[in-house]
Amino acid sequence: MCGIVAYIGNRQAYPILIKGLHRLEYRGYDSAGVALIEEEDINIYKTKGKVADLEHYAESKNTQGTIGIAHTRWATHGEPNDVNAHPHYSENDSLAIIHNGIIENYALLKQALEAEGYTFKSDTDTEVLVQLIEYIKETNRCQLFEAVQSALKQVVGAYAIAVIEKGNKNEIIAARKSSPMVIGIGDDEYFIASDVTPIIEYTDKVVYLNDEEIVQIRRHEPLKIVNFQNEETKVDVQKLNMNITQLEKGGYDHFMLKEINEQPRTIVDCIRGRINQSATDVKLSGVIDHKEKFLNARRIIIIACGTSWHAGLIGKHMIEEFCQIPVCVEYASEFRYSHPVINSDDVVIAISQSGETADTLAAVELAKSKGAFIYGICNVIGSSIPRATHSGTYIHVGPEIGVASTKAFTGQVTVLCMLAMAIAKEKNSIDHQRYLSVLKSLYSLPNLLQEVLKLDSQIKNMSLIFTYAHNFLYLGRGYNYPLALEGALKLKEISYIHAEGYPAAEMKHGPIALIDNEMPTVVIATNDSVYEKTISNIQEIKARGGKVIALVTKGDQIVSSMADYSLEIPPVDECLAPVVSSIPLQLFAYYIAINKGRDVDQPRNLAKSVTVE
Ligand code: GLU
Repeated sequence: MCGIVAYIGNRQAYPILIKGLHRLEYRGYDSAGVALIEEEDINIYKTKGKVADLEHYAESKNTQGTIGIAHTRWATHGEPNDVNAHPHYSENDSLAIIHNGIIENYALLKQALEAEGYTFKSDTDTEVLVQLIEYIKETNRCQLFEAVQSALKQVVGAYAIAVIEKGNKNEIIAARKSSPMVIGIGDDEYFIASDVTPIIEYTDKVVYLNDEEIVQIRRHEPLKIVNFQNEETKVDVQKLNMNITQLEKGGYDHFMLKEINEQPRTIVDCIRGRINQSATDVKLSGVIDHKEKFLNARRIIIIACGTSWHAGLIGKHMIEEFCQIPVCVEYASEFRYSHPVINSDDVVIAISQSGETADTLAAVELAKSKGAFIYGICNVIGSSIPRATHSGTYIHVGPEIGVASTKAFTGQVTVLCMLAMAIAKEKNSIDHQRYLSVLKSLYSLPNLLQEVLKLDSQIKNMSLIFTYAHNFLYLGRGYNYPLALEGALKLKEISYIHAEGYPAAEMKHGPIALIDNEMPTVVIATNDSVYEKTISNIQEIKARGGKVIALVTKGDQIVSSMADYSLEIPPVDECLAPVVSSIPLQLFAYYIAINKGRDVDQPRNLAKSVTVE
């Protein structure tokens, strides 16, 4: 959560920082601010609202300077207002800080500093840290680097920080623990950011900071990285392989719509080199290189949050059906605090788009400490989870900027399917004909997605009828039950309409009481092994006057004749039906949100990369 960007070099910092904040705005967007050093002084400009509000606010201000730090906030401590926005000054205005994360022991530290005469302007935990750094610096008469190092030893929590000092135009000190940070190395200049998006238009050389590392970034000098034990660590420069057009809207009104429409191509990228052209073989090196771990696994534990958790539920079906290995799917936040029993013959699969999800990362560390083998399924290359796991597979769907996940979900399910196929083949636990049929479906997914995207205008028209509903129910069975959860989540996230996903048969155990002609139900009723059962559930809704929107397989007569509206999905192996059917649900949520005038790319209260617990 929150975006950090900083610059030191020969150019004016302000335009670089503002552009960087725009790129990071998907991470948090309740307030924004910038601090620049010009001559001797630090100038801070910050305001509630979006980066555009900050630009407006700073229009007539002095934004000169070749060093600066900037932040777009996702509030944890203190409401989103001008005062709580970052950067924060220290007591004597000698330092300025930006921070992503949470200082858990801020209250104790604050009390101690108050006893020393320190006063606080904001409600944030961040201000406590900058005051502590100043206090240590003044008491110990040390350099900023040592003061930051010593302050962080007293801090419990998660952070990515950057600090600058009045009168010192030549240095930024940055550090991280459990929150992401990457440094771009340009031509006699450095860029610091929460992810690579603000950096890639300037340089392809980056260094990912590891947990508990502090970096001294000095003008005209090489980077110096030191860990908490004060040992200098090697500066590992990596080359980025991403281009700037991937970060633009490409003619679409919103990133979300662009990302929905990109899916035929992102699935091509996801399966490229993994499924052969005749669709007879699948190769996931992350699985093959560790096949003993999978073949001997007593069980697989999938840990994830949000949309990734829904993908995990589909993965469970696939792995259990094709590999006959028991699978449990856990919310990372519950798993880590539930005294989980983890054995060394367990395989843990961690799923996270950003690769930075705080709870998932912590769950990975926990499972690793108990000796389990950890496999990551992530999108952002070089992020923390892929670096913390033993092996894994990138979904390779490109940067996902829209806060509501779309192409990452289909990429995750596709990777889970390839993983299940790879293990099943090694284990000889799948019938060969079925194996070939699933592979064929995987290979044809891009074409099927292209076809299903043609429903766009039908869905757009249909959305007008349902925009004013206050509640929605989403139902599915088997492979489609997790998709019902995901469809409901999409609608909630961007339209703010209350929606619940349920296994279709569970409806009788409670939610059926809600059915009336004002509460529409979306039923995923494609032609699969539980099709007839789903039909009975639709009858139950119709018998109570409910309106039904059904997703059906092309050519379906039965459900279409019962439903009020139906959307036809091209036929596909049932394990991959959720990938194809997710597209109309994404479009449906998108158009309803648009009809309601919502900000679909940056819905209220949400943030893209959830780096706090
Ligand atoms: N905890 C800090 C605050 O509430 C930082 C939040 C963030 O990561 O944006 O200001």
